[in-house]
Amino acid sequence: MEEIKITVIGAGVVGLSIAAELAKEHGDLFVVEQNPMFGQETSSRNSEVIHAGIYYPKDSLKAKTCIEGRELLYRFCAENKVAHKRTEKLIVAVDKGENKELESLYKNGLENGLDDLRLLSRQELKKIEPNVEAAAAIYSSSTGILDSHGLMKKLADYLQGRKGQIAYDTKVIGIDKAAGGFEVTVEDKREGPFKFFTRVLINSAGLQADKIAAMLGLAKEEYRLKYCKGDYFRVHSGKAKFINRLVYPVPKEDRAGLGIHATLDLGGGLRLGPDDEYIDRIDYDIDPAKAKPFHESIRTFLPFIQLADLAPDTSGIRPKLQGKLEPFRDFVIKDEADNGLAGFIDLVGIESPGLTASLSIAKLVKNLVKNYC
Ligand SMILES: Cc1cc2nc3c(=O)[nH]c(=O)nc-3n(C[C@H](O)[C@H](O)[C@H](O)COP(=O)(O)OP(=O)(O)OC[C@H]3O[C@@H](n4cnc5c(N)ncnc54)[C@H](O)[C@@H]3O)c2cc1C
Repeated sequence: MEEIKITVIGAGVVGLSIAAELAKEHGDLFVVEQNPMFGQETSSRNSEVIHAGIYYPKDSLKAKTCIEGRELLYRFCAENKVAHKRTEKLIVAVDKGENKELESLYKNGLENGLDDLRLLSRQELKKIEPNVEAAAAIYSSSTGILDSHGLMKKLADYLQGRKGQIAYDTKVIGIDKAAGGFEVTVEDKREGPFKFFTRVLINSAGLQADKIAAMLGLAKEEYRLKYCKGDYFRVHSGKAKFINRLVYPVPKEDRAGLGIHATLDLGGGLRLGPDDEYIDRIDYDIDPAKAKPFHESIRTFLPFIQLADLAPDTSGIRPKLQGKLEPFRDFVIKDEADNGLAGFIDLVGIESPGLTASLSIAKLVKNLVKNYC
């Protein structure tokens, strides 16, 4: 049976970041991807925002990897000519009733070590964003946007240049624990099923990560992923020029997302979303009738947007560990040695800010792999 030192399941932005980081030291590296190309799932269905790290609880993995990942990402994009822009961002309190939540978010950001945040009064906000209606705002200068496809292409090129391989159209269908590693069964679209042995196995399978963990007996309730869909609407008629920064509302406590926000893209367009809706199965269709609630929610702080400006755009699905109305859950990034599976490295629940955090997550995983090779 063929033997491989390190195998990564999944060529999304996280799997590719991990593989590229490991390829700096290890040659014998294999990425297995079920689709014909990298980044066909959540990594190409998101807001492409480089988050600052304002929202996540202090010392959580989400906060730490977001803040470190953000700086690594800006550096990587600059050095590798990946398109990106420090757009800056505002979180707005639509009326004074939201000021308390805004201030507590601001404090959370400060506790996370963000020293670029500022609280703006209505007058200060109006000076920089005359078309935004709000009672107050948080200003973040370290938020930006990037070309996520460009990032993944650079990571894949780097990996392949270092003799790492990506096997596309190859789906992991079974895993068995073996002496000193794992036997992985894959279904290759052209050649059918085959097996190989790997010393280290990294589960970066995004929406399927819980199913991969279950193949090794870790069908734990605490790993069960809940799918939370986010739809986007594009704003037509050149209205992108009405704002200069990304504009977000204060997130509602009973919602699973950050609230429907306005994101500028690198092509000069304006998108609204994502919303948050728990669903039972993967389905990327968008109901055009959602334009109405989107408009109602966004016009409270961006009154220049009309219902007729909105057209359905894309959607993405968050692989969430927390179910509807459940409290915060952090990323799971761990070596499953304590479950008798030394060398099986699990990444479960890598939802937002997974894109921002990707290069930092890769460093964490590299440290775990050091125990084995
Ligand atoms: C609506 C939305 C908006 C978001 N906005 C942002 C944002 O602005 N900023 C930010 O930082 N983050 C954002 N995120 C989060 C971010 O997109 C994800 O955290 C990130 O893309 C996860 O990358 P990944 O590589 O873990 O997963 P994926 O991109 O899903 O990659 C997993 C890969 O594993 C493969 N795979 C699965 N099962 C198998 C198998 N059995 N065999 C072989 N291959 C398999 C899949 O085909 C897939 O390619 C957003 C997410 C959503 C849904």
